[in-house]
Formats: sequence, C-alpha cells, structure tokens
Amino acid sequence: MTLLETPAAPPVERLAAIAPGLAEAAERYGTPVYVTDVDVLHQHAAGVEAAFPDGWQLNYSLKANPLPAVVAELAGRGWGANVVSAGEWQAAADAGVPNDRITFEGIGKTDRELRAVVRAGAEGRPLCWLALESAAEAAALAEQWRTHGDRDAPVDVLVRLNPRVRPETQRVFAVGAESSKFGMYAEEIRELLDSGLLDDGMRLRGVHVHVGSQLTDVTAWSAGARAGVELARELAATHPHVDTVDLGGGFPAGAPDGPAPADFATAFLDGLDVDLPARVALEPGRHLVSAAGWLVASVLHVRARGDGQQVVLDAGMTELIRPALYGARHEIHPVRVAAADPVPTAVEGPVCESSDTLGVHRLPPLSRGDLVAVEHAGAYGSALSSRYNGRPAAPEVFLDGGTSPRLVRP
Ligand code: PLP
Repeated sequence: MTLLETPAAPPVERLAAIAPGLAEAAERYGTPVYVTDVDVLHQHAAGVEAAFPDGWQLNYSLKANPLPAVVAELAGRGWGANVVSAGEWQAAADAGVPNDRITFEGIGKTDRELRAVVRAGAEGRPLCWLALESAAEAAALAEQWRTHGDRDAPVDVLVRLNPRVRPETQRVFAVGAESSKFGMYAEEIRELLDSGLLDDGMRLRGVHVHVGSQLTDVTAWSAGARAGVELARELAATHPHVDTVDLGGGFPAGAPDGPAPADFATAFLDGLDVDLPARVALEPGRHLVSAAGWLVASVLHVRARGDGQQVVLDAGMTELIRPALYGARHEIHPVRVAAADPVPTAVEGPVCESSDTLGVHRLPPLSRGDLVAVEHAGAYGSALSSRYNGRPAAPEVFLDGGTSPRLVRP
C-alpha cells in the first residue's frame, strides 16, 4: 500500500518524515512560511473520492485555500472548483480550471461579478452554475442579463436552500441554521420560481445546500442533503432542466473522533428511497487541505513565566487567525530543537493585540531562532491572512514527496 492509498494519519505522525523539509523551507525562504505536504493533500482527496465514487461531481471549495498551486493539484485529479468571488474565480482560472468546471457560490455577489458571469456565458465560456442566494440577487442577475446577456445563453442557476437544520458544530460554522444569512427557505424558493423572475436569462438546474463546516456528526448534513434532493425532485416536476443537487462541504479536519467522508456518504445514502438527480455535487474545503498545511515560524524571544516559558513567534494572527477569531486549537511542535523535557509554553504572535495568541502548549525550552511548526494551517490559514501591522504575505512552499521544498508563491 502506498502513502496515497493509506488513510490519512494525524499530522504529528507525519512530522518526523517531513521535519527536514520544513527546516529546509524555513532556511531557503525565511519564516514565517506556509508549507503544503502535497502527498497528504492527495491522501485526503483520495479519501473523499473513495467515499463518493464515480458519478459524484467533486468541486474543491477555494475559500479554504485559494492558492492556485493547490487548486491545480486537485484539478489534476479531476476536481472542479467552487468559488465565492471574482478573485477566487481568477485563482481557479490561474490554476487552469475551465469555466465549465467552476461553480459560483457566494453570499453577497456584486453587480460587477454578476455581469462577469453573464458575459462569460454570452462569450461562449459559461460557468458550470451560479447558486442564487435570494430573490433580490436573482433580480440583479436578470438585470445584468437584459443588458449584457445573450438570448441563447441563459445562466445555469441553482437555488440555495436554507434547510433549517441544527448542524452539530460551533455556532460560527452552523450556516444551515434557520436564523443564518445563507440561502432561502423552501417556501421562498417556490415564491421566487412562481414570480417568473428566472425567465429573464436564467435556467434552473437544481438546488444547493450547505449545512455547515467542521461537522462533528452526520445527522444534520444528511437531513440537509435529503431536503435538497427532495426539493430538487419537486422542482423538476415543473422545471425541465432541473438535474442537479449540490450538497456543499462540511467534512471536518483534525477531528480524530469525528466522522469521515465515508460516514457522511453512508448516512445520506442508507435508506434513501428516492432517485438522486443526474448530477450530485459536493464542495468540501477544509478536509482536503487542512492537515496538509504547516505554518513554520521562528522564535523571536522567550520569557520565563510561571513554571514554564512564554515565547513570541514571528507568526501569529496575521498568518493564522483561527485561534483569535474563534478559539481554534492548533497543535505546535518543535522542529530540530534539542530533545528536552517539555514545559508549559504560552505561544504568542508578534502582533500588537493580546488576542494574538496560539495558546498554551507543552514544548521544550526554546531560544531565539528555534523553529516550530503549527499543525493544520492548510485551511483558512493563508486564506484568512492579513497585512495588519504592515506584515508581508508569507511565502508558500510545496513539499513534494515530503522532502524537497519548492516555492509556489513568493
Ligand atoms: N460550500 C459553502 C457554500 C460554504 O459556505 C463552505 C464553507 O464555508 C464550503 C462549501 C466549504 O466548507 P468546508 O471547508 O467546511 O468543507
């Protein structure tokens, strides 16, 4: 069995193999540096493909990590791209993904973005589909189409369903909850279709549903997915082009006790007593890229504090905001530090905010210049990075075969 066929192990179990590559990346390109372990990226993609085999349309949700080099790796395996803005659309194009493999979601699309979608269709290179968030957004798209569209090139659209489920996740990730700002209730979708608004330049292809991220159970996901399938079947009775349901993302990352993609597939398909539409799509993000990504940082200074140490790194909330934003925990490991008994270590970032902290970890005594590697930085790490405090974007490096660093973005 090759590495790529093995189920993905926790990042720490991979660390010994890739530590020389992480250290070399830091030496060559400086710190902080994002490093993607390409084999692990492929391992996770293979896991999803095995759980959702032939017939499922797999689209990578760029919001987790829009680096074109990452998108290109997945596109090379046959994955399409799910984007939420013109910027992500460009990143997918830069990765070589053709428009007919790109789906456009996004909870607040601008007129400029809607115009670009309409124009792409009129120029004969339509997107795969656009997911409509609201009746007002449908009206804005219709207006763009009246001015810039081609009569023979309606935009393929899905309607985004708010399935009113209670996803088993943190409140901030529970986008399928009734009170969320995402999508429409089923009755709002029916009203929209009855209004005839879609007749101006849109062709209804189906339903989009995404219940939330970092799910700790399959129940709400499965309920949301079934609601999407049932609505698509209902709409197909009156709209002849309806053939699609997109079940969104949500598979967790870094949750050893959490459900695997295969558990989602089983929960959804077991006992499903209706036929699936011809196209069933998924758009996972974090599950694919999270464990593959490391943030390598250097220690800037150390203070003795309590019965341990406090260290300030040259990476923090500007490179990985998840701990400051919603209390996410990212494990931290020394890279090439002399073995010694670990002590409680408050790991802080270099930004002038006391929320710029990566939490308390057990690390050996550290000194200026030592390297540490932060786990699970591949999803919503560089994607959510900022230039606050005048900090430059950290370089992005690929480790191919776990060892040889290759700069993919300076
Ligand atoms: N699809 C939609 C509509 C989303 O909002 C998100 C995440 O916010 C995703 C897919 C990807 O979710 P995840 O990265 O948890 O798989």
